[in-house]
Amino acid sequence: MAFDINALRVKPGDKIDLSDIDTRSTPEWDGDDKDEGKAALPVLNERLEALQELLYAEGKQRLLVVIQAMDAGGKDGTVRHVFEGVNPTGVRVASFKRPTDEELAHDYLWRVHSQVPGNGEITIFNRSHYEDVLVVRVAELVPENRWKKRFDHIVNFEEMLADEGTTIIKIFLHISKDEQKERLQDRLDRPEKNWKFEEGDLGPRSQWDDYQKAFEDVLEKTSTDQAPWYVVPADRKWYRNIAVSEIVIQTLESLNMDFPPPEGGLDKIVIPD
Ligand code: AMP
Ligand code: MG
Repeated sequence: MAFDINALRVKPGDKIDLSDIDTRSTPEWDGDDKDEGKAALPVLNERLEALQELLYAEGKQRLLVVIQAMDAGGKDGTVRHVFEGVNPTGVRVASFKRPTDEELAHDYLWRVHSQVPGNGEITIFNRSHYEDVLVVRVAELVPENRWKKRFDHIVNFEEMLADEGTTIIKIFLHISKDEQKERLQDRLDRPEKNWKFEEGDLGPRSQWDDYQKAFEDVLEKTSTDQAPWYVVPADRKWYRNIAVSEIVIQTLESLNMDFPPPEGGLDKIVIPD
């Protein structure tokens, strides 16, 4: 019955071999088929909407959701479907692109820290500081002796955020190389998707195995109790949406939030005509 998100969670000390994790699998889902999976999402959307309102009303806690994946891994679609219906006042998406000259003139966490959520907010990172040990590593944008130290920086940075009151969840959407090919082809074939096609994405595709290795290192070195990674098999979009919704919902439920106490004497107030 219940979807145990711990089945997807990377525990500190786990060894990760991504080729062992079936990208088409649907762990913890005990429904029948795709139709049933799609039907489950609106119910989850409503639960998330209520929890987000509570987080916002309470105004004391913050949630950071980091999403990483290969190109066409479904980051944008996940944000769209999982957060459908939430009040945009309290939810923000921060997308991290190729750094600008100004960003490159600073340390790699500079642009990231300024985007973390404040009290009552949910911020979704569409890509993140993890690019600085993924693309930066594989494309050799900085020397190895620099990016290698970043795993420790990142663990410490996230620990600081958590100690200061930010709840962090990190999601890796795991797709297969075949699935990526289909999705990139779709971007070529459908005029309304052409805008998403970037020839530059073919570079990382040709280095698929290097990226998988870099992701494995990220998952092994930076999944902590305070800022855990979840590996979500993501070839099936309906499953991906359910799994990510469950992770976000169950994390919010664990925060034991309350609406702020009402002002005293509300029962005696009469609204004037
Ligand atoms: P998209 O998410 O499709 O808009 O693409 C954003 C692009 O920015 C991807 O190719 C990322 O690899 C790239 N990118 C994001 N962060 C960095 C970074 N720190 N260094 C270099 N490239 C980055
Ligand atoms: Mg892209």
